[in-house]
Amino acid sequence: MGSKPAMHVRRHHTHLLLPQAALGEPQRVLLDEALKPAGWTSEPSDSPSMSLQWRRGRDGLRVQTLGWFPLLLTVGPLGRVAKTHRDAVARLTAAVTANGGRTFTDRQLADYLPQAQLRWQRALTERRRLAEAERVLEGRQCRRCGVWSEPSSTHCTGCRLRFTDADDADWKAVVAQASTIMDAAEAVLSDLARGVRLERIAHDATSGSVRHG
Ligand SMILES: [Zn+2]
Repeated sequence: MGSKPAMHVRRHHTHLLLPQAALGEPQRVLLDEALKPAGWTSEPSDSPSMSLQWRRGRDGLRVQTLGWFPLLLTVGPLGRVAKTHRDAVARLTAAVTANGGRTFTDRQLADYLPQAQLRWQRALTERRRLAEAERVLEGRQCRRCGVWSEPSSTHCTGCRLRFTDADDADWKAVVAQASTIMDAAEAVLSDLARGVRLERIAHDATSGSVRHG
């Protein structure tokens, strides 16, 4: 998903925004279920997070990813423009709208795209913070031998040191700090997916890292 979204936008294309991170399985199912009743059959895709396509007789339809956080899609014909496309686009639009999304214009796309790369980078940063904090919560580290033990352990797995009240207090502080970081990272990820503009998203909410005492 690191490749750049396609920048060119042709006529006969409708842009859709879904307040979600990326084009994944739930989004593919949503679009597919919307088209299936009208006789469209999905075709295998080399990169299903970037591009999907359907066939109905000789008509073809393609959905292309333009950006993430929120998910920006453009729908257009695959090959010649056919009468069936208008109905297909209406079905996709209805499905997206019913899931909190909306259509958007070329002008809005031009406004969104410069932010798309920065939004993706910010999301990666937040995901990394989240993963680091989760890792910290997986175990407590012994101050004497450095070995990791289960969070609920009373003794170190490595050297059998009994954790003291002070150790427990340190661990409690680590857990509290990690939880704060996780909450903040999740809030930013949710804001990014919903389409909140970057300048309105807190910048230092998740600064700092978790350290063992
Ligand atoms: Zn130890």
